[in-house]
Amino acid sequence: MKIISSAWVVPVNEPVIHDGSVVIAEGRIVETGKRREILGRYPGIDETRYPAVLIPGLINAHMHLELSHLSDIPEPLPHQTFTDWIADLLARRMADTAGSEERTASFSALLNDQYASGVVLAADTGNEFLSELDNPATEGWPQIVRMVEYLGPDRQGDLAARQKIGELEDRIAVTGHAPYSTGPELLQYIKDRCRRLQQIFSIHTAESEAELQFLGSSTGIFRDFLEKRNRWDDTFASAAMGFSGTIEYYDVLGILDEKTLLIHCIHVSENELRLAASRGAHICLCPGSNRFLKVGKAPVAKMIKVGLLPALGTDSRASNRVIDLWREMQILAADNHELEHEEIFAMATLGGAHALHAARDFGSLAAGKKSRFLHVSSPSLLRCKNAWDVMKELVSGGRPTEISWV
Ligand SMILES: [Zn+2]
Repeated sequence: MKIISSAWVVPVNEPVIHDGSVVIAEGRIVETGKRREILGRYPGIDETRYPAVLIPGLINAHMHLELSHLSDIPEPLPHQTFTDWIADLLARRMADTAGSEERTASFSALLNDQYASGVVLAADTGNEFLSELDNPATEGWPQIVRMVEYLGPDRQGDLAARQKIGELEDRIAVTGHAPYSTGPELLQYIKDRCRRLQQIFSIHTAESEAELQFLGSSTGIFRDFLEKRNRWDDTFASAAMGFSGTIEYYDVLGILDEKTLLIHCIHVSENELRLAASRGAHICLCPGSNRFLKVGKAPVAKMIKVGLLPALGTDSRASNRVIDLWREMQILAADNHELEHEEIFAMATLGGAHALHAARDFGSLAAGKKSRFLHVSSPSLLRCKNAWDVMKELVSGGRPTEISWV
C-alpha cells in the first residue's frame, strides 16, 4: 500500500481536492480524499508528495494511426468541399512511397508522444492491419483499442468487404467508415458482428453538412464523388433515404446502442442527440480536426443538456497537424465559453472511458480504478490559488511542462 499526495487532486468523479491524497494497493486505487483524513485513516503507510496536480490518464477516443506520416495534405481552401479533401487524402495514399518501416516509425513516435502527454488509452481506426498495434499493452504506449474499418458504397464493395470480414479472426474488431462510404446493409452486417463479439462500433457521423443532403435526397457532393468513381448503384437508394439526419438514419438501421461511438456529430439536431442518448450511444468530438477541415463546430452544450458526456479525440495528422488532447481541450474551451472547465476535462477522461467501455479501469481517480495516473505541473499550475484556477489552467493552458506517470 502507498499514499500519493499533492497540492491538488482532480478526481473527475468528484470536486477538486486541495491538499489531497490517493491511496493505492495492488495496482488499483483504494481511496481518494483529503490528505489529513487519509493520513489519519492509514497511519504508517509510505507517502510520496507532489507539488502540483494529480489527474487521471487522458483518453484519446479517435485516431487513425496509419495516417501519422501524412501530415502534408493541404488544409482545404474556402472554396473546397469535404470531398475535395477526401480526394486529396485518397490520392496522397495512392501515391504513398513510404515503406512500412517509415510508417511504423511515424505512428510509434506518435504513440510515444501520446503516452508522454498523459494518454493512458487510445482508440484507433484504420484500413490496414498493423501487427505492431495488435499488442494492446506496449511499454511506453497508451493501451490501444483497435478497429479495422470497412468501406463498401456499392454492391461490389459490400460483397468484397463481407468476404474479407468473414475471413477474420474474432479478436479483430471491425467497424464501418461513414454513412456515405459504407452502405446501409454493410453497416448492419458489421454492427451485428460487433454485437456478437461485444466490440465497440465506431463510425464517422455528421462530420460535414453535405451528409444531410446525401441522406435526405441521395444528392450532393457525396453522390457526385461516388458517381465519378463508378461506385454509385442502388446500394444507398435501397435505404430509401429521406432522412433528416445521420443519427436518425443510424437509428432506423438499428445500429445505435451503448457500444456505438459516433465520431464528430457536428450537424446534428437536439432531437437526434436525445435519440442517441436514449439508445445509450456515445459521442466523440474532434474539435482540432473540425477546425482544420472547416466543417463547423459540434453543438456541445446541447449534448451536455440531453445528458451526453462526449469523449475527445484528435483524429489523424491528415486532418490535424498537432496530435495533442491538451490542445483539443483548449480548442473546445475557446469555442464553447458556456462549458464549465470540469465538463471539458471530464470529456478527456471519463467521457472517453465510458465511450470505450473502459471505465472499470480508467477515467477518474475513484476507488477501484487502475493506479495508472499522472502528476502534472507547470509554473502556472504551481501558482494556482483555488480549484477554479486549477481547472482553467488544465483545460485552457495547453500541455503542462511536466507530466509524469505516478
Ligand atoms: Zn476519423
